Amino acid sequence: MLDILKQLVAFHTVDGNSDAAQRAFDYIAAFLETRGMFVERYTFDGYPALAATIKPHYKTPTVMLTAHVDVVPASNNMFELREGDGKLYGRGVFDMKFAVACYLQLVDDLKDELNRYDFGILLTCDEERGNTEGINGTKGMVAKGYLPRVCILPDGGDNWNIERLAKGAWHVAVTATGQAAHGSRPWEGESATETLMKALQEIRALFPEQQPYSNTLNISMIGGGEAVNQIPTEAWAVLDIRTMDHRSLALIKNDVQSICYKYNLSAQETTNIPPLVTDLENPFVHDFITSVETITGHECEPTVSFGASDGMYFNAHDIPVVQVRPAGGGHHGDHEWIDLQDFLYYKDVLIDYLKRVLNEPVGKVITTTPQEALTKTV
Ligand SMILES: [Zn+2]
Repeated sequence: MLDILKQLVAFHTVDGNSDAAQRAFDYIAAFLETRGMFVERYTFDGYPALAATIKPHYKTPTVMLTAHVDVVPASNNMFELREGDGKLYGRGVFDMKFAVACYLQLVDDLKDELNRYDFGILLTCDEERGNTEGINGTKGMVAKGYLPRVCILPDGGDNWNIERLAKGAWHVAVTATGQAAHGSRPWEGESATETLMKALQEIRALFPEQQPYSNTLNISMIGGGEAVNQIPTEAWAVLDIRTMDHRSLALIKNDVQSICYKYNLSAQETTNIPPLVTDLENPFVHDFITSVETITGHECEPTVSFGASDGMYFNAHDIPVVQVRPAGGGHHGDHEWIDLQDFLYYKDVLIDYLKRVLNEPVGKVITTTPQEALTKTV
């Protein structure tokens, strides 16, 4: 399994390196096909994606193991997997090539009895691009009909905790207009900046708390006016609003629109990422928590994340998204790492889970120790 991760880390799958992306996907596709999986490959906006399933043209397995293969840029030496002090280092080991390595190893482990299980693997290569406008790979795959009953996406939920909510992001630019006059004669004009300020005060009052577990507002950019001695005819601000659930998003949108109407502001939405809410009582989610606790002995506590993931595209179809991952960190820094034991556990959690979902007797999961894993690596 360390060999697989080493191979994956070595592909420089950063945005713009389409050659590396193709080679990584060639490697993954060949690995899966030689072990009996049926692979379909796609391209969205020039970025590769693939789905691997246990039967041909099968888009609706019970469990879809999902990951992005792209990583954020790093110096060349980070594309070499290193081990030290029970940790693995390298670009993408945590975000999130470890998951791809676990998916591949799992297929290798189960290759003689694949048709007893009901799962697929869905990989994309454009998550770090942060693109919400063009054809996102996950969005594209969902549109092509890849609709499992549960999506596993270990791109959030650190330290074996489970993400119960990723806040939504709603970005909107508001613009006030006024009537020009000389700056010395305000009574003859109408100030766009003053109108904007009044409107912003009212919008700000919609967010009394501004806490980790509340809806929040950031007035991120502001501007207006053209000359120091003129009553401004235009003033604008950009609002960065983060929401806890779909209902508060709808209410806030409505309130902001009413305030804009009252002050005659125009509003232009630039981003609308809905909150991703995971129902921990859902049986598919609950089973995953049980698998984590059984294999690792860690308690799987609910957490909230402040960023979005590709899980939202599945969630838009009411598919629960399970975001739980091992201990690791530094994902966008120079010392990205994952705990070695946890990395090995993650694959065992998945096998336990695939059996649990099928109501199969779970039996004994063979766990490789970090020592064994290291000696097996050339
Ligand atoms: Zn990620």
